[in-house]
Amino acid sequence: MTKYVYFFGGGQADGASGMRNLLGGKGANLAEMTSIGLPVPAGFTITTEVCTAFYANDRQYPAGLIQEVSEHMARVEQLMGKKFGDRTNPLLVSVRSGSRASMPGMMDTVLNLGLNDETIRGIIDQSKDPRFAYDSYRRFIQMYANVVMGLKGDILEDIFEELKEDRGVDLDTELTADDLKQLVGLFKNKVKETLGTSFPENPQDQLWGAIGAVFGSWMNPRAITYRRLNNIPATWGTAVSVQSMVFGNMGNDCATGVAFTRNPSTGENLFFGEFLVNAQGEDVVAGIRTPQPINMAGGDGSLPSMEEVMPESYAQLMTIQQTLEKHYHDMQDIEFTIEKGRLFMLQTRTGKRTATAAIRVAVDMVREGLISQKEAILRVSPEQLDQLLHPSLDPKAEKQVIAKGLPASPGAASGEVVFYADEAESAAREGRKVILVRIETSPEDIHGMHAAQGILTTRGGMTSHAAVVARGMGKCCVSGCGDIRVNYEKELFVATGGVTVKKGDMLTLDGSTGQVMLGKVPTVQPELTGDFGTLMGWVDSVRRLKVRTNADTPHDAKVARNFGAEGIGLCRTEHMFFDAERIMAVREMILAEDLEGRTNALAKILPMQKSDFLGLFREMKDLPVTIRLLDPPLHEFLPQTEAEIVDLAKVMKVPPQTLHAKVDSLHETNPMLGHRGCRLGISYPEIYDMQVQAIIEAACELVKNEGFSIIPEIMIPLVSHVNELAVLRKNAIRVADEVIARYAVKVEYLIGTMIELPRAALTADEIATEAEFFSFGTNDLTQTCFGLSRDDAGKFLPSYVDQEILPEDPFVAIDQNGVGQLIQIGCEKGRKTRPAIKLGICGEHGGEPSSVIFCHKVGLDYVSCSPFRVPIARLAAAHAVLLED
Ligand code: ADP
Ligand code: MG
Ligand code: MG
Repeated sequence: MTKYVYFFGGGQADGASGMRNLLGGKGANLAEMTSIGLPVPAGFTITTEVCTAFYANDRQYPAGLIQEVSEHMARVEQLMGKKFGDRTNPLLVSVRSGSRASMPGMMDTVLNLGLNDETIRGIIDQSKDPRFAYDSYRRFIQMYANVVMGLKGDILEDIFEELKEDRGVDLDTELTADDLKQLVGLFKNKVKETLGTSFPENPQDQLWGAIGAVFGSWMNPRAITYRRLNNIPATWGTAVSVQSMVFGNMGNDCATGVAFTRNPSTGENLFFGEFLVNAQGEDVVAGIRTPQPINMAGGDGSLPSMEEVMPESYAQLMTIQQTLEKHYHDMQDIEFTIEKGRLFMLQTRTGKRTATAAIRVAVDMVREGLISQKEAILRVSPEQLDQLLHPSLDPKAEKQVIAKGLPASPGAASGEVVFYADEAESAAREGRKVILVRIETSPEDIHGMHAAQGILTTRGGMTSHAAVVARGMGKCCVSGCGDIRVNYEKELFVATGGVTVKKGDMLTLDGSTGQVMLGKVPTVQPELTGDFGTLMGWVDSVRRLKVRTNADTPHDAKVARNFGAEGIGLCRTEHMFFDAERIMAVREMILAEDLEGRTNALAKILPMQKSDFLGLFREMKDLPVTIRLLDPPLHEFLPQTEAEIVDLAKVMKVPPQTLHAKVDSLHETNPMLGHRGCRLGISYPEIYDMQVQAIIEAACELVKNEGFSIIPEIMIPLVSHVNELAVLRKNAIRVADEVIARYAVKVEYLIGTMIELPRAALTADEIATEAEFFSFGTNDLTQTCFGLSRDDAGKFLPSYVDQEILPEDPFVAIDQNGVGQLIQIGCEKGRKTRPAIKLGICGEHGGEPSSVIFCHKVGLDYVSCSPFRVPIARLAAAHAVLLED
C-alpha cells in the first residue's frame, strides 16, 4: 500500500530533505530539521502524490487517506499531550502548503485550526489569557473564511477596523478580550450572511476543509501564473503539512520572525532578518506593523533588535542558523516563532538571492571550505547573471532624490509611474517601461511586477512580498518607503518633501541604496572584477565550448571582449549597409540597370566595407572572426516612401517611375524563402566578390603592416545544395587569391557555410566537401523546420506556449527533439566527410542556457551570442560539463 502521510516530531521523522518531490520543500525540510534535533513543532505531511491523484480522480482523495491522517493526528496528540477537538485540552494545528519548488506566498496557510466555541474554553483555561485566546480565534476565522470558504475582499477586515475605530485604538494589541470575543461573533454572522453557510464548528470538518483548500489552491490563477513564469510543471503538485501550533502572540515574551543566514541582497556573511514581538505567522510578511531588525548590525538603530530584546533566544537562533548552513551547505531562509521564551523553527529553505549575492555566497563558501569550486559554479544560474551585466546608476549623474526606502532588490530602473498591476502589464505590452508603485504588493500583483522595470512599495520590510518576489525575479525593488503617500484614486503619490508624482511621470529607482529619484537618471556599465572575476575564472577552466559573439561593429566587439568573447561567430555585413551615408550607394547598386552600373556602385561601397573589417579585426586582435556575406533580400534596402523614391531618383538621375517599377519588381510574396542569401550571390556574383575583396584586403593590410596573424572566416548563407556552395566558393577563392597575390603576403582564410535549411543539414556530408566550417543558423533553421515565419508567429505562438502545446518558444530555446535532430545530423555528417570541420552556432539560441548545454552535448566547438549574453553562455557551458559527470 502506498504511504501517503509522513510524520515528524520528537526528534524523529519519516521524511528527509532529499524527499522534496514527495513532501514538498517545506515538508521535507521540517522532517530534516526534526531529525537533526532542532526544535520543530510536531506534525505530518500529506504527499504530493495525493495532490496528483486528487486531480487525476475528479477531486477525490485516494482510499485510506482519511484513516492514515487520523492515525498520524493521534501520534501528534500523544507527543503533544493534547487532543484535537478536545474541550479541556485542545490541540490546535496549522495547515500549510508546500511544493517541490518554493512558491513564496502563493498558497495560503491556515493557523489556529481546531478552535470552536467549545475548544476556546480549553485554550482560555490553559493559557489563562482570554485576550490571546480570542485573538487566535478571530485570526482563525478570518483566515479560514478567506482561504477555505472563499470569502472575497476585506469584509471581515472592515468589521475589524470599524471596531478599532469604535474603541478609539490604533493597534490590534490594544483591543480587549471582550472586544475580540465580540469580533468572533460578528465574523461568524457575517460569514453566514454573506456565504449562506455557517462557519464550521466541527474540527474534523475544519481540517478537511483546509486540506482541500490547499490542494484546490494548486490550480488557482495566481499559482498558475507563478508556475508559468518559473517553468514549474503543473504535474508536480503540492504537499500539505499539518503541524501543531506554537504561539508568538501570547505576550511580550513571544515573537515571530523570518531571517536569512546571509544577506540575500549583497551576499555578505551576516545573519540577517526581521521579527515582531507578540505577533503571529504572517504578520511579518504582511507589512502591517513595521518589523524590528534581528540584530544590531542589520538595523539603523531606530528600533531595538532581537539581539537586544531577547538575547537568549537570539543566541539560540544564531547557533541554529550556523547548524543549518553547515548542514545544508547553502544560505538558508528561515521562519521561527518564540512562545514564552521558547524558540521553535517553522521553516527552512534555500534562500532566494540576487545575482550579486549568489556569486558572493558561492565564492565565500568555497573559501570557507563549505563547498567545492564545481558546486560554486552550479550555485549560480546562468540566467541570473543577466542582472549583473546591465548598467547601474551613474554615480556622477545629477539626481533629484525625493524619497528613500529599503534597498530590497538591487539594480537601477527608470520608467513611467503606474499604480496597478494590470496597467503595468498593458504598458509593457505596448513596449513602455514602467515603475509599479503600490502601498504593498500581494500575489495578485505578480504579473504586473513581472512587466515592470522596478517596484516601489510604501509598506513592508526586506522580507515583504514585494522584496522577496522582486529578488526572485532579479528586478529592482525599493520597499517600505514611508517617505511617500500613495493615493490610488487620484493615481499619484506625494513625497514628504512635497513633490507630487503623477501616473505617467518618469521615475528612477536604485534598488541598491533605496533611493527614489525624479526623472530618468543615466547609467554606467557594470564592473566585472572581484568575486565575479573569480567565479568566471573557475568557469573558464571547466568549460569545453568556446564562446564567441555576434557583432557587427567595433563597439559591440569591444563590449563582447570585455565580457570574455573568444572571437566573432557572426558579423552581419548587411548591417553595415544601413548607415545613412552608405544606403544611397547600396540603393544605387540594387537599382542599377546593368552590370556596369552595379560595379560602379559597388566600387563606392568597397572602401567602406573594408574600413569596417579593419575596425573589427583590430578590435578582435588575432581571435577568429566569421563574416557572413550579404543575406537579406534586396528589397529590405529600398526606399519605402514616395519622398524617398523621388530623392533617390534625383541622385541617380532617372525618372521616379523607373525606380517605382524596379522597386515593384523586387517585391516578393514570401521574402524569407525568396531571393536572398547565396541565391543573390549566384545572381549577382559581383556583390560577393566585392565583399570578399574587402575582407581579404583588410586582413592583408593588417598582416603586412601591423603584424597581425588573422585568419578570416568567410561564411556563405542559406545554402541548401552543395552545388550552390561549390560555385560561390570557387568565386571567393579566385578573388581572395588575387588580393593576396597583389599584397604579396601570406594570409590564410577559411570558407564555410551556414547550416540553416533542413536540406543543408540532411546533406551536410556533401556540403562539407566544399566547407571548412559550419555555423548553425538556428533562427532560420527553426523557421524552416517548423515551417513558420517568426515575424508572423506572434499571433499564435504565445498561446501555443500558454496551452503547453509547445513547452517553450522554439525561438528562445532550441527545440531539441526537432530542430536539434537536424543539428545533430549536420554535425555527424559534416564530421564524416571532414573530421576537423569547425562547428558552431550563431542563432540567438547561442546565449540561452538550455540551448548552450545542448550545443555542448552534440559536440559543437563554439556558440556565438550577443555581447551581453557572453558571460551567461560561458557559465552555461561550464554547467554543461559539470552536469555531465
Ligand atoms: P508560506 O509558504 O506563505 O511561507 P507558511 O506555511 O510558511 O506559508 O506559513 C506562514 C507563517 O505561518 C509561517 O511563517 C509561520 O510564522 C506561521 N505558521 C505556520 N505554521 C505554524 C505553526 N504550526 N505554529 C505557529 N506558526 C505557524
Ligand atoms: Mg512554460
Ligand atoms: Mg513560510
